[in-house]
Amino acid sequence: MAGKKNKLVQPSLKFEYLCSKCTNIAIKTSNKMLGVKVVCESCKEEIELNNVKNYKKIK
Ligand SMILES: [Zn+2]
Repeated sequence: MAGKKNKLVQPSLKFEYLCSKCTNIAIKTSNKMLGVKVVCESCKEEIELNNVKNYKKIK
């Protein structure tokens, strides 16, 4: 990863997961973990990270 520009994002956070309930960003994460329950940062609902398609790469 050296040499890549990452001004706005911490280097460890590479993906954002789109909430299945509110479709906003639920969490930011360093890898595509699945089967984990988290509280969405946008709607505060508990969701399970179970759809790899909901991951978007942070540029
Ligand atoms: Zn949500």
